[in-house]
Amino acid sequence: MDLSPLYRWYRKSGRDLPFRADRDPYRIWISEIMLQQTRMSTVLPRYSEFMKIYPSVQALAEGGLDQVLQAWKGLGYYSRARNLHAGARHIVEKHNGIFPDTMESALEIPGVGRYTAAAVISIAYDKPHPVVDGNIKRIFCRLFNQAGEPPEKYFREKSYILIEQCNSPGEHNQALMELGETICVPGRPDCMNCPLKNQCLSYQTGQNEYASGIGVRSPQKKNDVELVVQVFADNRKPGLWLFRGERSYFFKNLWFYPCIIAERKKILWQSPKSSWLKQKSVRRFENKFRHSITNHRITGRVEIHEIDSSPGAENLFRVPEGEYMFVEFSLVENSIVSSIRKKAELIYADFILPTML
Ligand code: SF4
Repeated sequence: MDLSPLYRWYRKSGRDLPFRADRDPYRIWISEIMLQQTRMSTVLPRYSEFMKIYPSVQALAEGGLDQVLQAWKGLGYYSRARNLHAGARHIVEKHNGIFPDTMESALEIPGVGRYTAAAVISIAYDKPHPVVDGNIKRIFCRLFNQAGEPPEKYFREKSYILIEQCNSPGEHNQALMELGETICVPGRPDCMNCPLKNQCLSYQTGQNEYASGIGVRSPQKKNDVELVVQVFADNRKPGLWLFRGERSYFFKNLWFYPCIIAERKKILWQSPKSSWLKQKSVRRFENKFRHSITNHRITGRVEIHEIDSSPGAENLFRVPEGEYMFVEFSLVENSIVSSIRKKAELIYADFILPTML
């Protein structure tokens, strides 16, 4: 197959994306991780912001994890941000701050799998490692007129045959990715504008909706859970107590309000109590909010817990399952990355701020 029309089309019509401006492996790596579970339209503004804060792998490695999580705000799936931070430290320590150019070394970086490694190494270093994801599989099924979904071996072999014939593996991979995202899309492809229509077997035979389901994420079944946000407002000083713990369910290792998470009335997790924080009273709100996280549909409620902290309580102290931190009201927004904060604040802010400030 002659893919030169595809490459010409990509050079002329490929989208002008910020991470394609040069071949900096760091920039490509960040974009690939962001795009793993997030749409391009969501990623683009956040990518630019993130790169302003962390313009180099050294800057990312030297940044504090809490600040990196803040910079990741709005992208969700915070384990990716944690892996990026650990990955940057790994690259600085083991590879002198330069993303490695071999698969073996790239796969040792936290959070980097075969697809990401192949994308970064091929685009940054022009090495012949094909990327194969749902989009590429769909294109291959259509180009070679394959009904159903052939085994992985088929795609692996085809992808190596094609990449070995090209002059620039980086351009080859990016052109295929671009084709899958803009022309040979799931459902009805835009064959009239496709640079490969003269060679595409399914188009030639009128079966170009083959493989329409490949590369389309099936909607995940969502579990209904209840979340009780407990706003721990301190009587002694103007601010709140937040909690962070290893087992905090959706908020694992993230600062969030103490809370209870339950499924069909059964408690899945709740923040541990502390003798340093004595509860004086609770105000419960009837209003509910809704939120979705991965495959969970959350119904949230808010409670304000009036707390008397012990005079000896440090502003940051450990409990067996994590730690509590006192934050002034003005710093709550910077401490909680979850967008649930805004929804909870809409319910409690009017009741807590005038009296506590
Ligand atoms: S001709 Fe149509 S089906 Fe074939 S590769 Fe192009 S867009 Fe996809």
